[in-house]
This record gives sequence, structure tokens and C-alpha cells, in this order.
Amino acid sequence: MSDEARILISQHAKTSELLGVDFLPLGKGMIQGADVDEGVAGFVPHKNDERSQVSSGNGESVPDLESTPSLGKDQHSEPISAQELRATYESANGAQAQLEALSGKYNLEAPHQFFCHQFNNIVFGEGDPSADLMFIGEAPGEQEDLCGRPFVGPAGELLEKMIGAMGLSRERVYICNVLKTRPTNNATPTSEESALCAPYLWEQIRIVQPKVIVTLGLPASQLILGKNETMRSMRGQWHGMIAGADELPEVEVMATYHPAYLLRSYTPENRRKVWSDLTQVIEKLGLSKE
Ligand code: URA
Repeated sequence: MSDEARILISQHAKTSELLGVDFLPLGKGMIQGADVDEGVAGFVPHKNDERSQVSSGNGESVPDLESTPSLGKDQHSEPISAQELRATYESANGAQAQLEALSGKYNLEAPHQFFCHQFNNIVFGEGDPSADLMFIGEAPGEQEDLCGRPFVGPAGELLEKMIGAMGLSRERVYICNVLKTRPTNNATPTSEESALCAPYLWEQIRIVQPKVIVTLGLPASQLILGKNETMRSMRGQWHGMIAGADELPEVEVMATYHPAYLLRSYTPENRRKVWSDLTQVIEKLGLSKE
């Protein structure tokens, strides 16, 4: 069999998995066809569910922390300026070093101090610092909080399968979240909380300079697109602008459902919608030709 045929067959297998049959280990706390409704206000991907699945899955819960993290001196209750952030990383050599400098600034400023008081680790983001494709989720969940890496729990497993089906690997994309710490009581980020963390996200985008951003779920999609719309209306089409971000490179944005939503509402229709969104990304990045 030729290499080309082998690649085609493997891509086809991945595609059919994603399109509908079994690309997830059933029985890991996943609720098939759960009655999640996007509702009038649009779907809000509650990580609460994902987290409780994780807890019930392994029988462990995260211990409450008694102390808040130590905080830097010059703390901001207003979003920090792009100029101040850029000054902290611009002299660093290369994208990876710049991301590390930015992450150091985040640790120092600790914008989460105003809303997050119980967490184990800051989850700043990871992946290829020069990736063409960036995924942006909402906030770390239980597993992410424990190990300091984004999307390593059940939603992360699904995201990795989606990335694999696109002909990529986790290491070849950049993955991060709007919030960098697990929200207290697993709450969905408010717009004020997102706004406090957004300057760091804009600079992550500025450093990585992806060609395409995929936003996962409502909070990330609304923040990045600067729209107060439903997932139903935002997903499945290209958006060319990132609102609120000053002097960012041109990036194309595709909004799609959060993998945690897919886990909760694992219907063929939802899987097809997500795959259709990702197919547009594959085409835009020319990945299908690989
Ligand atoms: N959900 C998110 O939005 N981000 C993560 O990192 C994990 C779960």
C-alpha cells in the first residue's frame, strides 16, 4: 500500500470516528445525549459537570486550600495595559522566551487574586510557541489545576482526539484559556474576570501569531470576538476580527462548541457540527494536503 493511501485511510478513520461513532471511551463518566440546551442566552459550557465527572470517575476530590497564593506588589484591579505587558517580554529572545516572560509577569501581577482564591497551579498555556493554530478554552478544570497544564482532563482527551483527527498533534498547536486559574466554585468566568485576564491572552496571541484561533465554548468565543451572541450564531463561520485587542496580527477565528459540552451532549448532530467547524480550519490551514 502506498504512503498516500495509508494516510488517506488513517484520515478517513479519524474522520469517521469524529463524525459519529466511537471516538471516546464510553463509561468514563460521560453522559450520552444529555439534555443540555443552548437556550436563549446560548450554551454555557459548565466545567462543573466535567469536574464532577472527574471526581466521580476517580473517587478523589481536590482538597480545599487554606491559603491564597502569594501576590505581587504592584497589583492591578484594572486590566493591565498592553504597553506594560509588552515591556516585560519584548526584549526576550524568541517566542518561547517571550511567553515565559509574559507568564512570569502574570505570576507577579496575579490578576486572579480578585476572584480566585482556591487553586493549586496557574495554568498559563502550552504548546508550539509559533503554532499556526491556537485553541482557547475557558478556564482550567480539576485535572488542569492539579498539574498546571491546560486541557488534560476528560475535555482535554477529547480535544486531543479532535486535534489528531485534524492531522496534527497537541505539540504542534498552542493551547490556553481565558482564565489561568481554576475558578472558585467552578464558576463560569464573568466578563469582569475575563477582562482582567484578557490582556495576557492578547499578548499570548501576539507572541504566537497563529494563523487561526479556535475558540472553545461561549466565554472564550464571546471574549475573542467581542460579541454577546450565542454559540449557535457564532460557530461555523469565519470571524476576522479580535475585539478589544490592540494592534494584534490578523487572525482568523473559528468558534466551536467546547469539548466539555460535547461530552455532555454527545449527539451525532453536535459531533457533526464540531467536525464541520474543524474541517473549515483544516482547509484554511491546508492541513488536508499533508
Ligand atoms: N476546560 C477548559 O476550558 N480549559 C481547560 O484547560 C480544561 C477544561
